[in-house]
Amino acid sequence: MTARAMIATLILGLSANHQASAYVLDGSSWPDGKTTFHIGITNHGSANSPSGISWNTAFREAAGKWNAQSNFVFTVDENDPSNPCAGVGSYPQDGFRNGADFRPKVCNQVDGTEDDYGNKTLAVTVSYVFTSKPEEKVETDIFFNDAESWDIYDGAARASFDFRRVALHELGHVMGLGHEESNPAIMQPTIGDNYSLLADDIAGAQALYGTGSGPGDPPIRMSIEEPFNGDVKSGISNFRGWVVSKNPLVSLTLYRDGVLFDTLDHNGKRVDVGNQFPDYPGSANSGFSFTTNFGLLSAAQHQYRLVARDNQGNTLEKTVSFDVERFDNAWVGDDNLISLDNASTQISGSREIRINGMIHDGKEYQVILNWKKARQGFDIKEINRTQ
Ligand SMILES: [Zn+2]
Repeated sequence: MTARAMIATLILGLSANHQASAYVLDGSSWPDGKTTFHIGITNHGSANSPSGISWNTAFREAAGKWNAQSNFVFTVDENDPSNPCAGVGSYPQDGFRNGADFRPKVCNQVDGTEDDYGNKTLAVTVSYVFTSKPEEKVETDIFFNDAESWDIYDGAARASFDFRRVALHELGHVMGLGHEESNPAIMQPTIGDNYSLLADDIAGAQALYGTGSGPGDPPIRMSIEEPFNGDVKSGISNFRGWVVSKNPLVSLTLYRDGVLFDTLDHNGKRVDVGNQFPDYPGSANSGFSFTTNFGLLSAAQHQYRLVARDNQGNTLEKTVSFDVERFDNAWVGDDNLISLDNASTQISGSREIRINGMIHDGKEYQVILNWKKARQGFDIKEINRTQ
């Protein structure tokens, strides 16, 4: 019952032969100013380009250029690649993970199609947003046209296309930048001799995510880490995240499904946040969390909205939508009422376990567990009453 109610925004990639105001925004961005790509890029089976540089390295370098010149933070993980086609056709879903690879087709997770690249299109970035929150990206995948000739180099364009500058361009789309038709920019729709971020690109990134550390910082930054958008919750689990502010915060108010739920303390130890945002006072003690029984909510989609307000009148709010899966009885005190005696298990896909015939307080259920990276363990994905 994990509703994947999303819309895909197909951002046309860089074209090989197409004549290319200031920076252009595509209308959606990442609420926390960061995202992670999970890559294992190969072209025609090879991890290395003709230059000898691996595709992964070039992708990482392109991400690093944006990191160095903007507030946005790309993380590139090479340990557990996400197939950018995950969720399309016979490719199993793998959560809202960003993938990038050479592919013969562009895969669209919403309608399950694999489409041809446009005429002379070198690469395509597909962005996904929830229909309920169209301004916040939740997943992006980059498709590099496997039929083209590729290499990695700086300087003037050659017959083989430079993968690194195309990755740089596509990562701009990932951040939320559109095509720049007028000013010199890596975000121009046509590939050329430029292989760097230019002033117009950096201005666009700053418009989306603020300037680098300093007086241009947003007054408040905040992240809800759990549940995350699209999460599935059941039983007793956490609500947690962090908030930092230039000025003293006067309130941090949580609404659940539109109703005032609680005001939160926000002084939990968060060394990682302190390291990432040293310019914000008290950022190393900026965490909030509480434990709650999600099983007491109805088996449906729910929403938390968190609103931070400082003493200057600045506010920032974040919203997460998540699904609740539950047993009919949300709290069973007697372990004897839980039984797997007549149950069977089935492995489905590479990261999913199905338990059929579990008895929970006299009723029979199918329980589906899958691997959750955020928790580094198996967690409940679905609870289905079977009798
Ligand atoms: Zn483009």
